[in-house]
Amino acid sequence: MAKINTNFLNLQNRYLFSEIASRVNTYAAANPAADIIRMGIGDVTLPLVPAVIEAMHKAVDECASAETFHGYGPEHGYAFLREAICKGDYHSRSVMLSPDEIFISDGAKSDTGNIGDLFATCNKVGITDPVYPVYVDTNVMGGKSIHFIPCGVENGFMGDIPDTALDIVYLCFPNNPTGAVATREKLAEWVNYALANNCIIMYDSAYEAFIRDADIPHSIYEIPGAERCAIEFRSFSKTAGFTGIRCGYTVVPKALKCTLEDGTQVSLNALWERRQSCKFNGASYISQRAAEAVYTPEGRAQVKASVDYYLGTASIIREGMQRAGLECIGGQNAPYIWARTPAGMPSWDFFDLLLNKASVVVTPGAGFGQAGEGWFRLTAFADRERSREAVERIIALVKTLK
Ligand code: PLP
Repeated sequence: MAKINTNFLNLQNRYLFSEIASRVNTYAAANPAADIIRMGIGDVTLPLVPAVIEAMHKAVDECASAETFHGYGPEHGYAFLREAICKGDYHSRSVMLSPDEIFISDGAKSDTGNIGDLFATCNKVGITDPVYPVYVDTNVMGGKSIHFIPCGVENGFMGDIPDTALDIVYLCFPNNPTGAVATREKLAEWVNYALANNCIIMYDSAYEAFIRDADIPHSIYEIPGAERCAIEFRSFSKTAGFTGIRCGYTVVPKALKCTLEDGTQVSLNALWERRQSCKFNGASYISQRAAEAVYTPEGRAQVKASVDYYLGTASIIREGMQRAGLECIGGQNAPYIWARTPAGMPSWDFFDLLLNKASVVVTPGAGFGQAGEGWFRLTAFADRERSREAVERIIALVKTLK
């Protein structure tokens, strides 16, 4: 008789976005004339930039003739993209990775989820709270024990260094959902902790393109020693609007080793290569050519302009929350603004109030973990003028609560 992986039964039914959708639908049905503004949306809204479109058209045309057709590609990605990433994202910051330390994928969600395949069930896993839910759910599926690391005002939303020895720690900066970034000093503390405890850091840097402060590291490998303790995940989704195209990559340095009980050192780069060769057949040629175009001078300027647009909207939202008198962070090097609910309201109560009284949809912080209770998330991906209007509505509503 087939037996299921009963760890799946331990998953919390995360109805966050379906719960939001159902409350919004109920409200819309009861108020057909309501002008609803959705500030909870996590997807990009600007179209792909011209350099990317051009590269994709060219790649499609290549596939139209037998001489230039591309079938199965290398599982770990085409050399042209691995090299462009090395130069464009790392060598430019004096991080001397080599192309065979870069693994191209269909995005950071699959990679942050699949990486757990390399690690035994007995590992103690640290996960920041509030959090992008994929880290939690995939570790629950794998039967691993999770230790939550609260991230709040008290630690600048960067988490306190644990006083216990964890085997794996997930970090995400710029953070979803809080929009917090990690300072160089704090990242160095995390790296030193990891090195001292033979712990591996899973560093999700999907929002790296939003960093504008010169002092904030873009990659964990800017911290000395990180190549011996960290895996980094990146994505073209938010950098270049690839949420529907699908392309990302994971860096597994060759210096990263795990030691067996008999002292043998095992390369995680080799294990990930083996895992991906077996279970993954590569991102499409077309999406990889599209991603390569992001590193051309035109592509760079164009995607920067898109990210700048979102950051401009983010700063309007952030400033609006401050005008409303709500404590908030994020929105400066990130597309997310994390604000405290007024008058200590629980997240879902404030969500309902905002929906019913102002027709504005946000994401309740409690949906991202216990430490998110009493907060809500706004995103800067919506239209600029609609975001402005939403902010004014929030300010007006908050005034009535005082
Ligand atoms: N990591 C974080 C923190 C995210 O917020 C997201 C998407 O929202 C992802 C990863 C997934 O990115 P991708 O589209 O590359 O799968």
